Amino acid sequence: MEKLGLYLSIPFCRSKCTYCNFASGVFPAAHHERYVARLEEDLRAIRTRARAWGAVLPNAVDSIYVGGGTPSLLAPALIRRLFTALRREFAVMPTAEITMECAPGQMDSAVLETLAECGVNRISFGVQSFVDSEARHTGRLHTRAVALEDIRRVQKAGVSQVSVDLIAGLPGQTLESWYESLRVLAETGVDHASIYMLEVDDESRLGRELLASGARYYAQEVPGDDLIAEMYSEAIGYLAGHGLAQYEISNFARPDCESLHNLKYWRRQPYLGVGLDAHSMLRARSGAALRFGTTDDLDAYLGSAGWTEPGRMSREQELEEAWFLGLRLNEGVSLAMLRGQFSASVVRACLATVAQLEDEGLLRFADGDRVTLTARGRLLSNEVFQRFLAEPAAA
Ligand code: SF4
Repeated sequence: MEKLGLYLSIPFCRSKCTYCNFASGVFPAAHHERYVARLEEDLRAIRTRARAWGAVLPNAVDSIYVGGGTPSLLAPALIRRLFTALRREFAVMPTAEITMECAPGQMDSAVLETLAECGVNRISFGVQSFVDSEARHTGRLHTRAVALEDIRRVQKAGVSQVSVDLIAGLPGQTLESWYESLRVLAETGVDHASIYMLEVDDESRLGRELLASGARYYAQEVPGDDLIAEMYSEAIGYLAGHGLAQYEISNFARPDCESLHNLKYWRRQPYLGVGLDAHSMLRARSGAALRFGTTDDLDAYLGSAGWTEPGRMSREQELEEAWFLGLRLNEGVSLAMLRGQFSASVVRACLATVAQLEDEGLLRFADGDRVTLTARGRLLSNEVFQRFLAEPAAA
């Protein structure tokens, strides 16, 4: 049976970044205990819930991702409670990849010791920029020196894998300052990096300010789309030259350091998300994919509301998803695998779209079996994915 990936959402932050529209926020520490108690309750009830939904819930877990939010803000005793609850309900494999997201400057020594003690072997730092003014303008509280010191502390504490996130397109960023962030990242020797192109959500503070032409969050200094695209393209070559090869649209790793947990999302392997605004994909006994999630309203979640009823995906939806998630990966989509999962006639029906996108320079064939995005296709990936949404129903 396939192994399970577990995601735990911890929606607490010390300050709200200007570009962020996640279901996260600054809440009093008193909420933390109630929230962890609620997670424990959900974990205890999950098998009964899965049975009632006809979902197959694997017992063996090979990846855990604690994200948010800033989970490292939880007190050590609460972190211990979470891992105890996880291990009580699931068989966490000794080799499991266990990641926790941390914000630089927001992980005290007791928390770091507790993470190592609980088996966390991967830390993902939301650095976003190693240029102090850029970090400050988006509401981040750290400086480059603090971020570098935290990376060193984690490496010294024996956490074997470290990932750093950067954002291309922050207010005030130039190609030169972007190269500075990339240079510092490469010098840290971390084995994984995530590079996101800034997408300003209208509901974030930055987005509202852009619409209103305000100046408080430096919205008028957001670089243009062409410059952001150039920063992203430059990062691919630069990181490859420093041993971090791209394996997904936004992700780069040294050999064998890809994020096992995130690969599950793109490969459509089962995962369970617990906590606020968490998403899950499990299989029904028939093999069909079941998707469900939880509320993004913290008060409702703490008040025991929570799970949406699972939606069973149609074969057509599963096929669409196999394309647009698989194409995110550099390994691309294997036609042989698609034929196995769907049927030869269904794959044949997709080939006209593939050929058209190949003519437009957005897709290419590799090894006669795999379809992958080209460099241009990666920049226009949403357009490519859109073209797979109207494929004929799977037989
Ligand atoms: S730390 Fe992350 S989740 Fe929290 S506000 Fe900033 S971007 Fe959003």
